[in-house]
Amino acid sequence: MANFNIDSKKARTYDAIVIGSGISGGWSAKELTERGLKTLVLERGRDVQHIKDYPTTNMMPWEFEHRDRLPKEITDANPIASRCYNFKESSAHFFAKDNEHPYVQEKPFDWIRGYQVGGKSLLWARQTQRWSKYDFEGPARDKFAVEWPIGYDDIAPWYSHVEKFAGITGNKDGLDTLPDGEFLAPHELNCVEKYFKEQVSKQYKDRHFIIGRAAHITDPQQIHLDQGRAKCQSRTICERGCPFGGYFSSNASTIPWAMKTGNMTLRPHSVVHSVIYDDKKQKATGVRVIDANTKQMMEFYADIIFVNAAALNTNLILLNSISSRFPNGLGNDSGVLGQYIAFHNYRAHVSAEYEGFLDSTDDGRRPNGGYIPRFRNVYKQETDFLRGYAAGFGASRDTYSDQDGIGESLKASLHETKYGNWSVGSHMMGETIPKESNYVALDKDLKDPFGIPQLKISVDYDDNDEKMIKDYVEQVTEMFTNAGFKNIKAHDGHRNPGNDIHEMGGVRMGKDPKTSMLNKWNQLHACKNVFVTDGASMTSTSTQNPSLTYMAFSARAVDYAVKQMKAKSL
Ligand SMILES: Cc1cc2nc3c(=O)[nH]c(=O)nc-3n(C[C@H](O)[C@H](O)[C@H](O)COP(=O)(O)OP(=O)(O)OC[C@H]3O[C@@H](n4cnc5c(N)ncnc54)[C@H](O)[C@@H]3O)c2cc1C
Ligand code: SF4
Repeated sequence: MANFNIDSKKARTYDAIVIGSGISGGWSAKELTERGLKTLVLERGRDVQHIKDYPTTNMMPWEFEHRDRLPKEITDANPIASRCYNFKESSAHFFAKDNEHPYVQEKPFDWIRGYQVGGKSLLWARQTQRWSKYDFEGPARDKFAVEWPIGYDDIAPWYSHVEKFAGITGNKDGLDTLPDGEFLAPHELNCVEKYFKEQVSKQYKDRHFIIGRAAHITDPQQIHLDQGRAKCQSRTICERGCPFGGYFSSNASTIPWAMKTGNMTLRPHSVVHSVIYDDKKQKATGVRVIDANTKQMMEFYADIIFVNAAALNTNLILLNSISSRFPNGLGNDSGVLGQYIAFHNYRAHVSAEYEGFLDSTDDGRRPNGGYIPRFRNVYKQETDFLRGYAAGFGASRDTYSDQDGIGESLKASLHETKYGNWSVGSHMMGETIPKESNYVALDKDLKDPFGIPQLKISVDYDDNDEKMIKDYVEQVTEMFTNAGFKNIKAHDGHRNPGNDIHEMGGVRMGKDPKTSMLNKWNQLHACKNVFVTDGASMTSTSTQNPSLTYMAFSARAVDYAVKQMKAKSL
């Protein structure tokens, strides 16, 4: 029996464990296995294999029973997921269902989750901008949160590293607010977007409008072909999973790549309960897992652990990792674990019409949009709110058909597309300020179906966000007016925090162990063999989309961890 236990323990021991197989976990797994580490990837959801497990990817609109809408009983049962624009008949199977995965909303918070191999990388909108030096310098200059322990130059080579492998389309625009990357051929702006670009640069020295940067292979390189991925066909139904691997997902890219090394063991249906801390060894020795099928608790062991469960679940796991050394959560000597949560303020939109270019259309598809990089408070403080916002911008030609008539005449008129004016629209992407009062904690009484405490989320907008919304509406309205757009309408959708799906913080990086959880290598100050490289680690939020930065942090932290292991310092 004793021998059996030793053998069984050996079989459950690896060099490294990665918790979560989404965007950040996929990258951690790739980098660890490429460096020869036997790596266990623990994923709470089911396996989703590239192509094989994309059941709707080649379905035509008429093949869906509900024409890609969801019946009322499903939307009623999932009010939170339903507020995500991608929760559709063709992609609902990639969303965690509200009623199966309860949490406590002390204040309204839409927690959108993807619980399967690949996580939310199957569903994301693939916008991938680098953060700039102004983003990393923000907290120190504007005196909020804590100073970042790294600057843009520390992360820049790792941006290049992940961009080349993932495949990012973009144009080299030469803007210091939005550094250029290793781009594949850019998508094109349409005629009204080109016109708006000209107007913006004519009228503003410090404002720009550019084509978006996105994780799509417009021009496959050998490294993409080696992954078995091909050129994006611009089908724009990416959220179903792409059989071409045209966009970056863990499923199409990092996970199969890690598997090919022969060093990865992927264990789906494995809900991580907590990290095991050994008081004597003064380090983490493994993780406790609940098998989602049998509900049996088991343990796995490793020398290093990467926590990549997505920002809020990473907080939950660390808060639930209690030991006599860490009674308030793993590595939580500072007491800041779970605090300083922030997100992106996506509340406002501005729409309008343009009466020009009536001899042109925008037929065809493009899985990308236009982008106005942040221009507020970049070089100095100039408004009554801190930080700023980026904005999306797109133009499309309105179409309709005459629906009067009956029989043959109706059929004929439905076939004849008529064109209206051009519609233009913009949405804001504002930076929010991480605050102690925006926090997550374990609920004292309520448990999830696995017996793990439910996460209590208490996150809200503040006065800074309200002022920023007002400024965004004023500035975009002015830019639209100057461009000659008509019928300008602004709208505050009052969407809940979380609906932006860019929640960050709670396990922030910082220079001082008294006020932060992680050092500059994403390593817990107080438990050096545990690394956090997902959104939980972010000290502040920038205005740019965050996932490219999680990828870069994951690759950088693995490089450091493996060097430390080889030098026997870990
Ligand atoms: C509709 C949509 C649009 C988006 N658009 C963009 C965009 O344009 N640009 C951008 O940068 N970001 C975008 N995002 C956000 C992006 O998807 C996330 O930032 C990114 O996926 C985060 O990576 P992650 O590895 O932290 O988490 P995920 O990709 O969510 O992966 C986390 C994984 O951990 C697993 N897990 C969780 N808890 C446990 C546990 N206890 N035990 C074991 N496994 C666990 C989950 O099942 C999941 O597989 C979008 C998201 C959505 C849904
Ligand atoms: S747009 Fe490109 S990435 Fe998206 S589904 Fe189509 S081919 Fe795939």
